[in-house]
Amino acid sequence: MSDTGDGSQVRGSVIIAPVRDEAQPVRAAAYQRISEIMTAGDEHGVNNQRADQQRTAAARGYTIVMSEADNDLSAFTGRRRPGYEKIIAAAQRGEIDIILVFQLSRFWRNRVERAQGIKILSEARISIVATRGPSLDLSTAYGRAMAGMLGEFDTWESEVKGERQQLANEAAAVAGKARQGCPQPFGWQADRITADPAEGAAITSACAALLRGGSVTDIMRDWEARGVRPHQGALAWTRTSVRQILKNPRNAGISAYNSVEVARGEWEPLVDDVTFREVTRILGDRTRQWPKGFTTLLGGLAWCRCGNHVGGSASAHGRLAYRCIQGTRGDRPGPHVQVIAASVDEAVTRLAIGRLSAPDAVTALVVIPAREDLAALRDEEAALCARLARLGELYAEGQIGEQDLITGRARGEQRVAEIRTQLTGHDVDSVLAPLIAAQDTAAEWERLSTAQRRAAIGLLMTVTLYPSGRGARTFRHDVVLPPGRGIIWKA
Ligand SMILES: [Zn+2]
Repeated sequence: MSDTGDGSQVRGSVIIAPVRDEAQPVRAAAYQRISEIMTAGDEHGVNNQRADQQRTAAARGYTIVMSEADNDLSAFTGRRRPGYEKIIAAAQRGEIDIILVFQLSRFWRNRVERAQGIKILSEARISIVATRGPSLDLSTAYGRAMAGMLGEFDTWESEVKGERQQLANEAAAVAGKARQGCPQPFGWQADRITADPAEGAAITSACAALLRGGSVTDIMRDWEARGVRPHQGALAWTRTSVRQILKNPRNAGISAYNSVEVARGEWEPLVDDVTFREVTRILGDRTRQWPKGFTTLLGGLAWCRCGNHVGGSASAHGRLAYRCIQGTRGDRPGPHVQVIAASVDEAVTRLAIGRLSAPDAVTALVVIPAREDLAALRDEEAALCARLARLGELYAEGQIGEQDLITGRARGEQRVAEIRTQLTGHDVDSVLAPLIAAQDTAAEWERLSTAQRRAAIGLLMTVTLYPSGRGARTFRHDVVLPPGRGIIWKA
């Protein structure tokens, strides 16, 4: 592969140097590189590459103003290339017009480097002349288009890699796996599974403080005092960084992907679900609060006599009512429930407080459910969440219609809500114990959030509502909650 010194015989250089003012010589930078596939004494070694370049320059009238070589066989393989960097810098300063290389593959080691190089050299209008193989004339629109296409392929490849990574991340999230690729979350050790004694305790105590009425500023001070430091090199805590940490579903052992809660995580939770939902409510994160319909005491929790859930919604007169949810009713025969919520809430609350105040409450109510029941519920929750996360995509892809999307989502969210009530309701310590232990159960009940009250009710009883009958204007306890059917005690 030798050249004659006659420009016409230089092989491969299909696109040649920029059109320039004849009076000015073309300033060339000569670049040589040995990579690992070239061995010493190889004809493509640095000296041979340089000789090739000198012949080409002489044949075409270029003036070599700088010559740089890099040796990839050195200890710095895969790292910096001082020669390459000098040439790029000279190009950016406008000190050269073309770069002479043996082959394009000698100049760039990988696609990322090539994409970056093409961008810089296109802007500087500097061409790369290869003594073997195709050159890149970045001074012409055609050459830049060619370079752009090479760049497009590079981008495409990295995007495909990115998509694969995204899919892998999503799969890991749905499986509840701790993701290793992302920064280490505050609160856990390097395995991202074991709680960090100092950071985990900081989160747990911060959540408890918020629930007691503490402020984010208090928490910042407490964390400074504890000596726990923000990750990722930040120097001090800010209100934003503290809030972000406390609103992370990971704290409650919930695996989320793109802000959608998709599964139970494999890592140690730092707080229970009820605490987490309360914390996010206090911090004003609507997306992390209980799903829709949970603002009422019994919506999505109590049943219609037909076996369908009731939802809470405003009545024609603007009062909150419980109604058998039409979207999930299916073919179940009526009559279906529609009743003013306030009276039902009052009756159910009175019954719950009565049960919790009973002398045998301590022994009768502190019952830990079987572990396998909880595991099955968590599995079901994870599967449902994954399906819910897919629904939007299916709709976007045209695989399901809008009505399917709406009913599917409503059904799924309702069941997830139920499961979460059961899961959190099972957290006897956090929900029922304070109520049972309180001197004044009714006063303690008043202090609870709706979410906490729902959890307590879910633990205590199954509520089934019956229609009040045509024209009924007043709430009749024995009709809406008939004895032996309306309230079924669980404990
Ligand atoms: Zn019904």
